[in-house]
This record gives sequence, structure tokens and C-alpha cells, in this order.
Amino acid sequence: MEFPNVFVIDHPVIQTKLTELRDYTTDHRKFRALLDEIGSLMVYEVTRDWPTKPVPVQTPLERTIGRALARQVTLVPILRAGLGMADGVLKLLPDARLGHLGVYRDEATKEPISYYQKLPPDIADTEVLLIDPMLATGGSGSAAVAFLRKAGVQNMKFVCLVAAPEGIRAMHAQYPDVPIYTAAIDRQLNEKAYILPGLGDAGDRIFGT
Ligand code: URA
Repeated sequence: MEFPNVFVIDHPVIQTKLTELRDYTTDHRKFRALLDEIGSLMVYEVTRDWPTKPVPVQTPLERTIGRALARQVTLVPILRAGLGMADGVLKLLPDARLGHLGVYRDEATKEPISYYQKLPPDIADTEVLLIDPMLATGGSGSAAVAFLRKAGVQNMKFVCLVAAPEGIRAMHAQYPDVPIYTAAIDRQLNEKAYILPGLGDAGDRIFGT
């Protein structure tokens, strides 16, 4: 299945860890650790095309020119499951700031309900990684992208762990220019909007609820 502007990071180490995450016997302690590791590993691919700027550096031997990220970075986990993935990303991007968007899915209507927003004031000038492990219906993701666009964000990528084709289509119907990075595109959603085969409720598995 080919989707434009969707990048599947099929690195064998990530895939091995993802398979462990899918396993229903994986408990919350191991789940958190694995998600954290995958978050870190995905950073390499997700940030590959970020612009850098030359910076002078004094080595023990001489002065030379190195490189640094051209723009500041903001991570925006979608609460609550996004928090479980943001920690790993933050390990590789420790200078990043964190914004938070609280969006939950109404169980009856499956519609996203936004209940919390807190973003850095200059977020529009930064590289933004919007993080949510599960791209299911695309409702929360699209709501979050809409909110970030309203805040002036242009440089934004959506980072998830598992995406459903339905969610990709829904997100890209509205925001085809927002790249989606995922470790897997699964088969489909079930009637309760869970991803199949998926890994269950990511929030519950992270937090042990
Ligand atoms: N959210 C989850 O945590 N899991 C799914 O399968 C779908 C949405």
C-alpha cells in the first residue's frame, strides 16, 4: 500500500521492538521502555531533512566550522498516549520544548474532543513534531494539526508508531502537506475504531490503566 508523504520506518531494530509492543503479554513497564526506545530510534529518520546552520567550534587543536539545527524544536504530544512516545524523542532532542494538546475521542461518536492546549508562544518559528503513537481514525491528529496551523505552525511532522489506512487518508484529505512518519501501516480499523492488528489501547498499555 503506497501513500504519498507517508514514511514507514521499517528498520529491523524498530520492527523487532514493535513486535514486542504488539504482544499482549508485554506489561506496562516493558511497554513504556520499548516505546521510549522506538521514539528515540525514529528521530534519525524523522529529522533527516531538517536544515542546519554553520557554527564555529574550537576543537582541542584548532577552530573549525560545525553544524547545528537551524531552528528550535517543539515536541507536541497529543495527550495522553503521546506522552509515552515523547520521552524517547526528547532523549535525542534534549533542547526541545514541549507543547501539550489534550484531545480525546468520544466513545459514542468517535469524534475528537479538545480539552487542553498549552504551546510555546513562538512555536510558529520552530520545527514541530506532533506525536501520537496510534493514528486510528485521524480525528485527533487532524484536530491537533488544525490547532497548530491556527498557531501559525508550518514546519510540522506527524510521528506515530502504528497507522491505519483510514487515519492516513483522513489526515491527508485535509492536510496532505503534513508528512506522516510511522513504524507500521496496519490493515484496518475495527467497528470500535481500534487498529487491527494494532497493539490495543496505547494509553492503557503505557499507563497500566
Ligand atoms: N488508539 C489506541 O490506543 N489504539 C487503537 O487501536 C486505536 C486508537
